[in-house]
Amino acid sequence: METQPGDCDAVPLPMEMDEATQPKDPPKISRLDDSVVNRIAAGEVIQRPVSAVKELVENSLDAHSTSISVVVKDGGLKLIQVSDDGHGIRYDDLPILCERHTTSKLSTFEDLQTIKSMGFRGEALASMTYVGHVTVTTITKGQLHGYRVSYRDGVMEHEPKACAAVKGTQIMVENLFYNMIARRKTLQNSADDYSKIVDLLSRFAIHHIHVGFSCRKHGAGRADVHTVAASSRLDAIRSVYGVSVARSLIKIETSDHNPSSSVFKMDGFISNSNYVAKKIIMVLYINDRLVECTALKRAVEIVYAATLPKASKPFIYMSIVLPPEHVDVNVHPTKREVSLLNQEVIIEKIQSVVESKLRNSNESRTFREQIVEQSPSDNIAMDKDPNFSPSPSGSKSQKVPVHKMVRTDSLDPAGRLHAYLQVKPCGPLENNPSLTTVRSSVRQRRNPKEGADLTSIQELIDEIDCNCHSGLLEVVTHCTYVGMADDIFAVLQHDTHLYLANVVNLSKELMYQQVLRRFAHFNAMQLSDPAPIFELIMMALKEDNSDPGCHENDDLIDKIAEMNTELLKQKAGLLEDYFCIHIDIHGNLSRLPVILEQYTPDMDRVPEFVLCLGNDVDWEDEKNCFQSISAALGNFYAMHPPMLPNPSGDGLQFYKKRKPLRNSEDEEDIPENIGDDTTEENEIEQELLSEAETVWAQREWSIQHVLFPSMRLFFKPPTSMATNGTFVREASHSDNAIS
Ligand code: ADP
Ligand code: MG
Repeated sequence: METQPGDCDAVPLPMEMDEATQPKDPPKISRLDDSVVNRIAAGEVIQRPVSAVKELVENSLDAHSTSISVVVKDGGLKLIQVSDDGHGIRYDDLPILCERHTTSKLSTFEDLQTIKSMGFRGEALASMTYVGHVTVTTITKGQLHGYRVSYRDGVMEHEPKACAAVKGTQIMVENLFYNMIARRKTLQNSADDYSKIVDLLSRFAIHHIHVGFSCRKHGAGRADVHTVAASSRLDAIRSVYGVSVARSLIKIETSDHNPSSSVFKMDGFISNSNYVAKKIIMVLYINDRLVECTALKRAVEIVYAATLPKASKPFIYMSIVLPPEHVDVNVHPTKREVSLLNQEVIIEKIQSVVESKLRNSNESRTFREQIVEQSPSDNIAMDKDPNFSPSPSGSKSQKVPVHKMVRTDSLDPAGRLHAYLQVKPCGPLENNPSLTTVRSSVRQRRNPKEGADLTSIQELIDEIDCNCHSGLLEVVTHCTYVGMADDIFAVLQHDTHLYLANVVNLSKELMYQQVLRRFAHFNAMQLSDPAPIFELIMMALKEDNSDPGCHENDDLIDKIAEMNTELLKQKAGLLEDYFCIHIDIHGNLSRLPVILEQYTPDMDRVPEFVLCLGNDVDWEDEKNCFQSISAALGNFYAMHPPMLPNPSGDGLQFYKKRKPLRNSEDEEDIPENIGDDTTEENEIEQELLSEAETVWAQREWSIQHVLFPSMRLFFKPPTSMATNGTFVREASHSDNAIS
């Protein structure tokens, strides 16, 4: 009964009239008829045909079958028939088989703690008899014939009849929901129950690989799922989900045996970057039970989205085994969900193994781990790892020994520090180089530790949150990275719009925000050789003040550098505790924080950073102090264009060197295609060029695979970015023929 809004005053509903005019007698309570109770309960256990199939197949598995076949007519509404070759049902048990709460799997409540079978409630068969017509045919070992009997509303309709039978049990459910008109109608209109049943059987088949499964429509010659007992899980997956899925899978496993955190074992298969699908498929077994775990599914999805943004809808098969007493199987009437002890810890462990597997397997874009061998100083820093080929086009990335690089040219700003600024991980990273940004930040949000208790940090974080521009937030969380437009601007697509986004500004702000969020909880990266901050500051000051021959300045610069060094040595405790910036007693910088996992800042910017710490930080006021250090880190870690000019643009000029004029005898050696430059030859500084190609390609890789995925997860764009040129909207698709 409905009324239009506004009608209520004028035309009271009948009930309102009753209430107004009659004294309120409490309604009488009466006991529901058993048949009503049972039908209500049955409707809950058997929600749709696929739930009946699940219960029946689980019964067959509990009966130790090695072959299970399912036949379905009319999406299961007309007929569901499940046949197995299991141990069968005793003749004596047939009379109570379909009564509610009759089971062979459980006798005391305590048994639940160690239950291994899938069923235990003794409700499934009973429920089916309240909402459909059930016929059971079964034979037990050593019998000459089997029995057949039909049930309705929990009881046998007649004495069991002797009949011929093959090993095992066959259960037929006909006319499901014949007595629930509304449900039958809705189900009749939805054609997808058969596909749900096929999906279910597929999931069973890849876990129970020693059981053969088949599933077909009644009257169909071909089965839609057909497996024979397989020798390996991968074979089973191949036969159910196809070669292309099986080909894109990576094996994963992990375990924990620490009673104080979690005890579990997990193994499975996950899709790699080659796998593309519109929807996630996650087949999850916990203690051999097919279950759903939304938290885990979501957690895995996040890792994919952050690691492989393009192939972000994965295929996952996972089997988790825990001590039975750690799983509560009795939280859901259809046992679809379970609750686990230490779920959070388990999820985190799993996220971390999924992430590291994905990173490692992503061969087409080999990912650089933060662990590198500590190499002698003639290797340039890890940034120039020769095995790292960040762009699919494969920029030439030859190893360039530092001593061979041109360092004398004052125009060459590159590489001076590489000899001692190699990065190696330390602390928690040592065992697990690729902890996810995602995970760490989730962890931090979950248990805010001391850091977040500092009100000044909380205030700074609140300012970020309050100042967030909702329109831009929508753009950064849902945009697609298209590519770099030039050295500074990336092209993004959101809906039908293209945006130019300033990656330097974005990364600077993102790093700043992440420093505050990770405050006092950083992982560390270690410099291969501690760098004397005095010299770093000198270097930075000289760069600032490069007036050659101006020697009076040198004394002054020395003084400033000395004072700054002293200052930073004094502040070393604070820098270390809160920002993981380690300066030892000799005034050497030896450790830096990891702000975004898998990202190392450009070490050419260390001098500027150290100078900035010395000069620009307000050490007096707590909030200003934290704010300015975070900003300095943000600026240092931002994805600035590398200091070597970009060889793919005008910067190429930089790598050409002039050769002295040649003698006339040599002239015939000069290749003909030299162009206009007939008297001088432009030679390319190959080594420098290849280093530049690598650092530029690497930066672009980081922009695509670190910056944008992290932004999607963490970034709160400040309102100022809407107007300061950080985001510029281009013409929309409809105005413009870009597609
Ligand atoms: P539950 O599985 O919770 O025990 P059900 O109503 O599903 O309850 O089944 C009741 C009982 O019937 C089971 O405990 C089992 O002993 C027997 N049963 C059901 N299906 C089969 C089957 N396919 N093979 C052998 N026994 C079965
Ligand atoms: Mg059962």
